[in-house]
Amino acid sequence: MAKVNQVSGTMEKMVSLCKRRGFIFQSSEIYGGINGFWDFGPMGVELKRRVKESWWQRMVRDRDDVVGIDTSIIAHPQTWVASGHVESFSDPMIDCKKCKRRFREDELAGAVKCPECSGELTAARQFNLMFHTFVGANADSASTAYLRPETCQSIFTQFKNVQTISRKRPPFGIAQIGKAFRNEITPRNFIFRSREFEQMEMEYFCHANDAATQYDYWVSERFAWFESLGIKKENLRLRPHAENELAHYAKGCTDVEFQMPFGWSEMEGIANRSDYDLSQHAKVSGKDLSYYDDATKERYLPHVIETSVGVDRTCLAILVDAYREEDIKGEKRVVLGFAPHIAPVQVAVFPLSGKLSEKAIKLHHGLKKRFASEFDDAGSIGKRYRRQDEIGTPFCVTYDFASDEDHSVTIRHRDSMQQDRVAIDQVEKYLSDQFKR
Ligand code: ATP
Repeated sequence: MAKVNQVSGTMEKMVSLCKRRGFIFQSSEIYGGINGFWDFGPMGVELKRRVKESWWQRMVRDRDDVVGIDTSIIAHPQTWVASGHVESFSDPMIDCKKCKRRFREDELAGAVKCPECSGELTAARQFNLMFHTFVGANADSASTAYLRPETCQSIFTQFKNVQTISRKRPPFGIAQIGKAFRNEITPRNFIFRSREFEQMEMEYFCHANDAATQYDYWVSERFAWFESLGIKKENLRLRPHAENELAHYAKGCTDVEFQMPFGWSEMEGIANRSDYDLSQHAKVSGKDLSYYDDATKERYLPHVIETSVGVDRTCLAILVDAYREEDIKGEKRVVLGFAPHIAPVQVAVFPLSGKLSEKAIKLHHGLKKRFASEFDDAGSIGKRYRRQDEIGTPFCVTYDFASDEDHSVTIRHRDSMQQDRVAIDQVEKYLSDQFKR
């Protein structure tokens, strides 16, 4: 059974709203769910797409020094030998002998008895987090392959191809968005820690002498992206890793953290990884992955600044940040105060009565060309507003009985609830101006 573990009041409300309004459902809900897997509904998929589009636009399309790729989920198993995942991508796991609950060692914080039933605990055992599968008809160790636990390794293995065909010289980056899989021991906190999720990763290749400057640049650039999503600054912070948290090859690592109801939590890691990744793949594959600089006549293995962020965690941060409850004359109003460019539905069009539907639909179809517009003619206007507030629609347009005479409609703002009368032929311009703010 899928469970939403350790959620505070806000998270419980969030989980319930996400289901009620079609953002996120338990995977395979009709069979009781499967722990650590989630499905995104009609609203959730739009939110996810906006997050991914915003990242891709800023990281790839707006820049001249980053190109994109899209690689397979299953790679040659040697990839994961070179990256160190086969050897050491594991968490120490402890079981309760009595109630059979499973814990990550760090969750138990040194406890000697099971926190659930006070039963006896097993010793810690290493548990590799990679999902295994078999390629081809023979299910034996020679055909074992892994579902990738991160998207970035194929960026390293395709470094030479991409560098050559795109004619990029360091410093330049390669970016990718895609699914990743980790057999987490204790998936928890809704979609924060799941077993299947999406990552947006970029590896920026540069000369060793340039790496410290590039690292500083990418830390502030990535923080700025979170702000551009409309997330409140007070809910974001940077956490540089202490010396003893760093991998032996890493020269620096900083997390972007968000204040979740369960505490400050990692959204993204930005790391100065030295030339570790390319040198590992060069060693294991036997291929030369170095770069020759014509201008300086120097041959070197580029150093790498990595930026690695989860799509699902970012969506959760946006949802938590946007959620608010208001008391309007004794009635509760639930609002997702998304930034307009992130909202799954950007404008909703209502006819005040069924008789006005045809004209309202015409307006909706016109707006659809430019905005994510939804048509709704079900229930009272108050109920329709409430639904749109809960899915975070910033503007609602109502076609009423006066519209035929004054050729105007009413536009209601989600946050202030202010209503403006706007000429029908000016609605698109009026909304465009609002999105520019
Ligand atoms: P954590 O310490 O929370 O397990 P991590 O440090 O192992 O995360 P990375 O390997 O740096 O995470 O992965 C980069 C990003 O991928 C994370 O910042 C996060 O946004 C996302 N991510 C990692 N694991 C998960 C997961 N199980 N579920 C959802 N997103 C994840």
